[in-house]
Amino acid sequence: MRGRFAPSPTGPLHLGSVYAAIASYLDVRSRDGQWLLRIEDIDPPREVEGAAELICRSLDSLALNWDEPPLFQSTRSAAYAGALDTLRHRGLSFDCGCTRRHLRAEARTGPEGFIYPGTCRDGVPVDRTPRAVRLRVTPQVIRLHDTIQGEQSQELSSEVGDFVIRRADGPYAYQLAVVVDDAWQGITRVLRGTDLLGSTARQVYLQQCLDLPRPDYLHVPVLLGPNGEKFSKSAGDTVDHIGRRASALWCFSLDLLGQRPPPSMMKEPVSTISQWAIRYWQPSELPCGKSIGWSSVSLAMHRWGIASD
Ligand SMILES: [Zn+2]
Repeated sequence: MRGRFAPSPTGPLHLGSVYAAIASYLDVRSRDGQWLLRIEDIDPPREVEGAAELICRSLDSLALNWDEPPLFQSTRSAAYAGALDTLRHRGLSFDCGCTRRHLRAEARTGPEGFIYPGTCRDGVPVDRTPRAVRLRVTPQVIRLHDTIQGEQSQELSSEVGDFVIRRADGPYAYQLAVVVDDAWQGITRVLRGTDLLGSTARQVYLQQCLDLPRPDYLHVPVLLGPNGEKFSKSAGDTVDHIGRRASALWCFSLDLLGQRPPPSMMKEPVSTISQWAIRYWQPSELPCGKSIGWSSVSLAMHRWGIASD
């Protein structure tokens, strides 16, 4: 079994990403699996200088040890270009000249954003210039079993539409990169937050189009902050200086993952806590909703002495 943690270097880790990293780590380590690190640095304007190193140091302080050197997506352009070529040769992609302004005027909006109306499927209209590349989506229901969230299904053509695989401003789209890299790294298990549940069907569809294997998917509930929105780097919910708080962060995460660490655990070094957690990991106790509200999050922060800063 091979799992992975795949942060974007847009800032330090936040409480929600520490919790997700620990969940993914325990999920594979408790089964003697390997845990890999991928830095999703394909969107330079959003990246913060030094964030990748900071994330690696934070994972180190948490004793979340990865196998194999980290994979940087910025080094993978040739692989993404190859996948794009394959899709083009198979007649599965097309150029799109629609801007956001066009889409606002012409497209319906679904849970995942604009539902592409198919304007450029048979050629870019003469008054538009090719900008992005989209994947041609055929009408079919994508079904998958999520180990935590249960049966999931999405009718891609009506709920999402042909989606972007290479963006107008240049970078390959997240959906394409993640599918190519999961296969390249031999990932068999993807544990991440429910904020990415809605994009899983697109990834499964891309795997079908590229003849790539499908990993098992597990989506843990995301943690919500006081404003009812998920924790994020942009909201300033980052966890700097993990060092002295590492044990508390472990206990906090285990608590929210339903693992009941004894109170004395907080005085132990992280290596001891992680060994305990690997040994007593109870997947059946994982929370199964879409999110964990601020009242539970703040209670756990209080219990383990993590100040809200
Ligand atoms: Zn278009």
